[in-house]
Amino acid sequence: METVSAQPKVWTQESASAEKRNVWTALKRGFRGRCPRCGEGKLFRAFLKVDDHCSVCELDFTPHRADDLPAYLVIVIVGHLVVPMALVIETNYSPPVALQLAIYLPLTLVLSLLLLQPVKGAVIGMQWALRMHGFDEQNPEP
Ligand SMILES: [Zn+2]
Repeated sequence: METVSAQPKVWTQESASAEKRNVWTALKRGFRGRCPRCGEGKLFRAFLKVDDHCSVCELDFTPHRADDLPAYLVIVIVGHLVVPMALVIETNYSPPVALQLAIYLPLTLVLSLLLLQPVKGAVIGMQWALRMHGFDEQNPEP
C-alpha cells in the first residue's frame, strides 16, 4: 500500500527555476560519454553498458530507460547520411552495383557502431535533464 509523504514539496517559482537543468549541456555531456550532471565521470563501463553510478559525483544512473530509442535515432541519422549520398552518386556517376555495395554497406555499419554509444549517452543525458524515469527522486543536487 502506498503511503503519503508527510511533507509535500511546495513548488514556487524560485524553487522550480533553481532546480532547472540545462538539456543541451546534459545532451553534450552524455554524447561525450560523460556524466550529465558533473561532466567528468564516465557514463559507460563497456560499449553500451551504462555504469551504475558516476565515479565523481555519485549520480545514480540506474533510473535511465534509453531502451531502443538510441538505435532508432542512429537508424534515422545514418539513413539520412547514406541514402542521399547513394542517390547523388548513382544519378551522377552510376558506378557498378558491386562497387556501391562495397562502399555503402561497410559505411553504414561503421557509422552505426560509431554513433550508437554517443547517441545512447545523449538520450540518458536528456532523460536526466528532464527528470524522466525517477532521475529527480533518487538523485538530489549536490
Ligand atoms: Zn557525475
